Parts: sequence; structure tokens; C-alpha cells
Amino acid sequence: MSFRKVSMIFICVSIGMLISCTTTRKSNRSTKFASNPVVAHRGAFKKNGFPENSIASLKEAIRLKCTGSEFDVRMTADDSLIINHDPHFNKLEIEKTTYAELSQYKLSNGEKLPTLREYLLAGIADNKLTRLVLEIKPSGLGKERGKRIAERSVELVKELEATPMTVYISFDYDILKKVIEVDPKASTQYLNGEKSPEQLKADGIAGADYHFSVFKKNPGWIEEAKKYKIILNAWTVNDAETMDWLLKDGFDFITTNEPELLLEKTRK
Ligand code: MG
Repeated sequence: MSFRKVSMIFICVSIGMLISCTTTRKSNRSTKFASNPVVAHRGAFKKNGFPENSIASLKEAIRLKCTGSEFDVRMTADDSLIINHDPHFNKLEIEKTTYAELSQYKLSNGEKLPTLREYLLAGIADNKLTRLVLEIKPSGLGKERGKRIAERSVELVKELEATPMTVYISFDYDILKKVIEVDPKASTQYLNGEKSPEQLKADGIAGADYHFSVFKKNPGWIEEAKKYKIILNAWTVNDAETMDWLLKDGFDFITTNEPELLLEKTRK
């Protein structure tokens, strides 16, 4: 075989490998989220008695085909990112305890205390429908540590190529600003409820994820959000009447401990 022929074969094989590699990477990232507005709050935990924020509750939200599954991120004394709602785990203060000490204790279903890495890996496996709604809890040890938690969370999401699946939420506006600084493509929603949709738009925040009472007090914000293309999300909506009201007003997301009930309503 001539040198020219060998070179041509080599070039063709290289191009082929490049194309197949690009296609695979793209298909891994491609998502088509469920068209319902249901975000399972701390995963779909309640009906099956799973622990809140467990991988079991995340997997159940994915199995139910919720459009999102929410969870809470905190950081241990030795800088491990873990999933837990309360600042304490088994009476130990998370921010002042190492991961090794905390992980001696299991969740009520026998799961180990999940790290953010484990949680994200479970969330991206065989899942194209359910967004990962990642709440960054502010640090009790100061603003700067909160921003560091944000930075480290975003870096991990990027490393695992989970950015298109992830929505960042926080009660701390500066944490969300840090998220956007680290990854301008990140999708963020603010939880605390005092900013108008116009203010969120000006700051590059994609969504208003407020307690439903905030929208009752400020009914004009629903139209204002639609005008400025701010995503509307409300928490934590567990009763049928409030669900009906938010569905009627066309909320993009509704965060609930009762995802089965809300899914049932959206099917009617
Ligand atoms: Mg939360």
C-alpha cells in the first residue's frame, strides 16, 4: 500500500472517530424535559416513605417523569459538598463536622449521606426528562463561604457535564450572582421573594421561585414575569386548591411534596 493511501485511510478514520465522538457527547447532553410543571421538593419522598434528599427520592422523581427534582447542598468542615436540608445531620453541625464523621450515620432507608457528586451522577444516569434543581444553602459561617459553596458546586456540575440538566436556586442573591459569574450559561432562580421580575431580569436571574403567598400579595408579578420572560416557580405547594390556581395562571414550575397529586392534575 502506498504512503498516500495509508495517509488517506488514517485521515478518514480520524475524521470518523471525531464525528462519532462529537455525536456521542452531544447525545449525552441532549435533553427533552418533561412538559409538566412538577418539581418534586427534596425528591419524590413522601408517598413511598423515602428520606428527603435521598438518592431514592431523586430516582422516584425521575421514574415519575417530573420536570424537576429539588435538593439542598451544604458543605462540611473539610469542604465536602453533601446533600441535606437542615444545617444539622444526626445532631452534628454539618459545617463544623468532617464528612467522615457525618457519614458514620446513614439515612433512614440505609443510604449513606449523599455527596453532591454521587447525587449528580445518579441524576444524570438514564435521565433526559427531569431537571436537577440544585439549592445552594447559604453558609452559617459567612457570606464568603456561601460563595465558595456556589463556586465549587458549579465547577462540579460543569465537570460532570450536567449544566443543561441543572437549575440553581438560592435564598442568597449573592450566591446566584456567583453562580452566573462562574458559569454565565447557568440557569438560576431566586427564592427569597422580595425582588420584582424586572429586577431579576436586570441581574440576569432566570426565574422567580417564590413562596406561593408572595404571588398572592403581588399578583401583578405574574404578568410582569411573563413580560420579561422570567420563569415562574412557586414553593411549596401541597394542596389541590393552590395547585389549581397556579396551573390556571400558567406557572412554568410548581414545587411540591405531592408530585403524584400534581401530576394527576396536569393529566386531566
Ligand atoms: Mg430546598
